[in-house]
Amino acid sequence: MDLPINKLYSQDYDVLRKNMVEKQIERRGVSDKNVLKAMLKVERHLFVPQEYIESAYDDNPLPIGEGQTISQPFIVAYMTELLNLDSTKNVLEIGTGSGYQAAILAEIAGNVYSIELIKSLSDKAKKVLDMLNYQNIKLKVGDGYLGWKEYSPFDAIIVTCAPTHIPKMLKDQLAEGGIIIIPVGEAYSQEIVILKKEKGKLLKKETIGVRFVPMKDEKGNTY
Ligand code: SAH
Repeated sequence: MDLPINKLYSQDYDVLRKNMVEKQIERRGVSDKNVLKAMLKVERHLFVPQEYIESAYDDNPLPIGEGQTISQPFIVAYMTELLNLDSTKNVLEIGTGSGYQAAILAEIAGNVYSIELIKSLSDKAKKVLDMLNYQNIKLKVGDGYLGWKEYSPFDAIIVTCAPTHIPKMLKDQLAEGGIIIIPVGEAYSQEIVILKKEKGKLLKKETIGVRFVPMKDEKGNTY
């Protein structure tokens, strides 16, 4: 074979990614075409540390440094589908982490605003997202418990770290008809909660059990 080596690697990842979408995501019931398309397109292996690159398409979360993790691919797809996004929507993410979820959101939504507490993670995510040339993602280092008032109200809010209760500011910064998807519970044992704002009121539904890292404040205390 005369293909350059990096081409060969890239093809291998394409195969792994296709398998991930079929076996881990479609087979478990995610059917939103835009979500499947985004999961097929975004190169997850660019968002994991070099030592885990071969495991980037496995059916589990992976460490990204600072004691944090990139979520399991199915959970990313599942939560994204629940947000009901299209290109007219503005979405807020709490917990940028690797930037992978932000990239998936940016493929589908109009604008993505993502907040990360740990600067080194936000810096790393920014590098990858810039390299991939996303123009519709704004990152900020700070405490996502407080939301991002400047760009509110948001049509959708996705929280990828877990508080023990739903942050009031996030409810306040949600647009009418908007949706919040958030894991709520004690450390490493939570349920995904769906909140929908209708006539100013929040309708609540609980779904599957998950294990996210806790949401913390700037002093390191868990919310
Ligand atoms: N969505 C990420 C996974 C995030 S892991 C991805 O696609 O890779 C959860 C992240 O939430 C961690 O990076 C953690 O530092 C961050 N986090 C925890 N508490 C936070 C807070 N109050 N505000 C913003 N980010 C927070």
